[in-house]
Amino acid sequence: MTPDLLQPVSVLKGVGDETASVLTEMGIRTIEDLLEYFPYRYEDYRLRDLAEVQHDERVTVEGKVHSEPSLAYYGKKKSRLTFRLLVGRYLISVICFNRPYYKKQLSINQIVTVSGKWDKNRQTITLQDLSFSTHESKQDLEPVYTVKGSLTMKQLRKHMVNALREFGSQVPENLPEQIRHTYKLMQKAEAVKTVHLPLSHEELKHARRRFVYEEFLLFQLKMQALRKVQRELSKGITHEFSEEALNGFIQTLPFTLTDAQSKVLEEIIADMKSPYRMNRLLQGDVGSGKTVVAAISMYAAIVSGYQSALMVPTEILAEQHANSLSSLFEPLHLKVALLTSSVKGKRRRELLERLSKGDIHIMVGTHALIQDEVNFQRLGLVITDEQHRFGVGQRRVLREKGESPDVLFMTATPIPRTLAITAFGEMDVSVIDQLPAGRKTIETYWVKHNLLDRILGFVDKEVKKGRQAYVICPLIEESEKLDVQNAIDVHAMLVHSFSPAWNVGLMHGRLHPNEKEAVMREFSENKTQILVSTTVVEVGVNVPNATIMVIYDAERFGLSQLHQLRGRVGRGSEQSYCILLADPKSETGKERMKIMTETNDGFVLSEKDLELRGPGDFFGKKQSGLPEFRVADMVHDYRALETARADAAKLIYSGAFWKDPEYERLRKYLESTGVLEGEKLD
Ligand code: ADP
Ligand code: MG
Repeated sequence: MTPDLLQPVSVLKGVGDETASVLTEMGIRTIEDLLEYFPYRYEDYRLRDLAEVQHDERVTVEGKVHSEPSLAYYGKKKSRLTFRLLVGRYLISVICFNRPYYKKQLSINQIVTVSGKWDKNRQTITLQDLSFSTHESKQDLEPVYTVKGSLTMKQLRKHMVNALREFGSQVPENLPEQIRHTYKLMQKAEAVKTVHLPLSHEELKHARRRFVYEEFLLFQLKMQALRKVQRELSKGITHEFSEEALNGFIQTLPFTLTDAQSKVLEEIIADMKSPYRMNRLLQGDVGSGKTVVAAISMYAAIVSGYQSALMVPTEILAEQHANSLSSLFEPLHLKVALLTSSVKGKRRRELLERLSKGDIHIMVGTHALIQDEVNFQRLGLVITDEQHRFGVGQRRVLREKGESPDVLFMTATPIPRTLAITAFGEMDVSVIDQLPAGRKTIETYWVKHNLLDRILGFVDKEVKKGRQAYVICPLIEESEKLDVQNAIDVHAMLVHSFSPAWNVGLMHGRLHPNEKEAVMREFSENKTQILVSTTVVEVGVNVPNATIMVIYDAERFGLSQLHQLRGRVGRGSEQSYCILLADPKSETGKERMKIMTETNDGFVLSEKDLELRGPGDFFGKKQSGLPEFRVADMVHDYRALETARADAAKLIYSGAFWKDPEYERLRKYLESTGVLEGEKLD
């Protein structure tokens, strides 16, 4: 440790009580804090050739004063000074507001450096900054910091320079020499100095690269350590079952597994057989066959003498899963049961009784599964579907119902790899990246809203053939009330168009859960042919007879969300269609609609989505689970993220890391995070 850096900022010359208290408000108490307070951007004072500068861009040029400055006053204190400046072969004008004193300081043929906004049409710079010297004495890149209260940018820069001069060389290195050498990373002390006083863009990039790597490495060390500790602390179940038993079950399926399904199954089986507790995320696009993989895993748990639980976010989904699992397991005399909040009274008591006696092998349910009164006799495997819909806490409660059951999270939202290893960094990830053969792709069209009548004609034609349609209403994120109102309006419009020939259902978030169930049931039984809905229909609903999806204002949705919605159709044997109604204004908007019509691959779309919208928006506002990086950018620096992840895993599992002095600072860091005691990050 270097105690000097831990001294309060007030040891700096010029930092008095007032400044110190403003700095404290900004989160800066010590010299170290100050040095780690990075600029959020840089003012660029590099000289540029005016021919290359865009209109309205900020520019710095050096030139020779070519005319006597003329000064005009207007209003009370306002003034305007203009002069001509010869910059290379250009003769331009410089306008300078409210700085009349320059008139006396400027003279013809004087060399000055001028920064300001370039008006290309008028060949004029509106001056922001003037220096009476040639450019050489000036810094090209000036850091811009967030400042608060009475502290000015100029003062902060001055304190920073002082701090760097006195303490800069003491900034300790925390990356091991060997890693720094391999990636040619700058020393930390040098990088800190560069960030505050960059001499060139090149150098700044170099410094930034170091901090990006460091940030990712520290984060991934935390994740990998957590993963290791969680494995070692939690003695899991060593499931015992034979391959023959499992293969026998797989033979009974009406199809052969895809290669991708077999691969992830192997990963899951290996986890279940190991003494560690499984903590695995299973990703696979809609229809990729996750449920079957889940069923086989549950069968394995049963053979080894344990019960399994499957938790899903809605009652209707729970029912669907319970039905399909029953038809799979009942011929084998295995018991599948359903627990939701609708199961009440005596039936509920009996069910819970049977569960605690081990009479039920597979329990499917909603949140109801995590209530106190629910006790398993011997829970060995917990699977949650659409895991991002459940809070972390809820997942943990279910996990704690058994001794130490294996846990598998399934999600149909393809998560770009860079986010997956960040948000779920402490988990193992399996991906089903292939659909069963023979699937028809959903034909997707992008049309403007003014063609709505023709679209409705198309819907009518399909419904006449016996099919059904979803109509998804625009999403108004700021207001659930407006969302609902929209759905009501669209519903009224469609009732007007289709009644009495067809029945039109209405689904939105303000309905009571029982009402939602009823609406969904009517649709799945084809009592309503057309279902108008907000996005609540997004999750896992399975109505194979529905072949059309019309999405209003499609440009407002994220690509991944559109893909999820689209996955509600194309679940039967008939050709399905998705129609995106959208009049996007921006080029990215148009690009997004085009991509939707071009690919059915959820992973391609999710990568694209991340690229176009950034990581913050990817998971939606509610539960992002993403860490904030100070310098690094998950999207653009993903290669560094991958590298850091691999390095972190190697370090954590190497003996040297836990004892050699060169890793001491990294070890100290890990100790300070609490992960070594198995503390969960959420
Ligand atoms: P997911 O849960 O990933 O959306 P499901 O497991 O519900 O997908 O599978 C979708 C449909 O595909 C189901 O009807 C299922 O029976 C079928 N299916 C699953 N795996 C295969 C396969 N290997 N070959 C053919 N059909 C399959
Ligand atoms: Mg599913």
